[in-house]
Amino acid sequence: MSEVKIVIAGARGRMGSEAVKLVEETEHFQLVGVIDHKNEGMRLNELEGFTADVPIYTDIDKCFFETNPDVLIDLTTPEIGKVHTKKALQNGVRPVVGTTGFSEKDLNELQQLTEEKGIGAIIAPNFAIGAILMMKFSQIAAKYFQDVEIIEQHHDQKLDAPSGTGIKTAEMISAVREEKQQGHPDEKEIIEGARGANLNGIRLHSVRLPGLIAHQEVLFGGDGQTLKIRHDSYNRASFMSGVKLAVENVMKIDLLVYGLENIIE
Ligand code: NAP
Repeated sequence: MSEVKIVIAGARGRMGSEAVKLVEETEHFQLVGVIDHKNEGMRLNELEGFTADVPIYTDIDKCFFETNPDVLIDLTTPEIGKVHTKKALQNGVRPVVGTTGFSEKDLNELQQLTEEKGIGAIIAPNFAIGAILMMKFSQIAAKYFQDVEIIEQHHDQKLDAPSGTGIKTAEMISAVREEKQQGHPDEKEIIEGARGANLNGIRLHSVRLPGLIAHQEVLFGGDGQTLKIRHDSYNRASFMSGVKLAVENVMKIDLLVYGLENIIE
């Protein structure tokens, strides 16, 4: 594979700093710059913990003009991630984006931009390949088990609940499962919320505790048996094989892909 020139936005962050390591350690990847909202004019290796000698830009257009990258990896925030994704496509740079919060309208607009520019884009709310497989395996299981509950567990700094992966899992299961109202028809919540959120009759439970990273169990029940499909991310390195896969794939496509499940066989 020919060398892929990469810019990372959010490089100082927990995900971004892992992505810097990934790019440095991957033979056919080359880091050419980073985008930050501070440290303009400095080199990345002037910041503590980094060895890559590449420029830091606060102006994304200037960064793209001067470094001429193939790919932008964006690991910033939902608001900034959206702006950067659009800017990248407008500049002919293929975005690989790990931030969430894209609406249907945003995705349509980005899809149109990929068509106009004839380049690919990948937005992946979850880069953990194990989590993608958990969703796919759950979809297979749901054809045989109608009764299912999802328990997702995350660190206590997470702002949204249920998690994007929890919702996505319930949607993928809904696509193949005959809709069913689970539990006893007369069940009553003694304390509101006890039975969790309800997506097409599938119950979603969100646990938030310090010490956790990202974990999810999909629990199926049938006559005399249960089936548990579980995934655990123990650190942010767990997301990097998915980032690598996305960068390699985004170079080969000319459309917008939303979700790594669409590029994993
Ligand atoms: P983090 O540690 O807070 O890192 C975010 C980084 O972005 C920080 O260095 C932040 O700088 C920087 N930043 C903020 N605004 C910026 C801007 N305008 N331009 C450039 N950089 C900017 O968060 P994280 O845990 O690494 O997560 C990063 C993102 O990835 C989040 O949106 C998170 O939800 C997402 N995420 C995705 C996955 C996945 O699998 N897809 C997994 C985990 C996390 P300051 O600290 O100075 O503000």
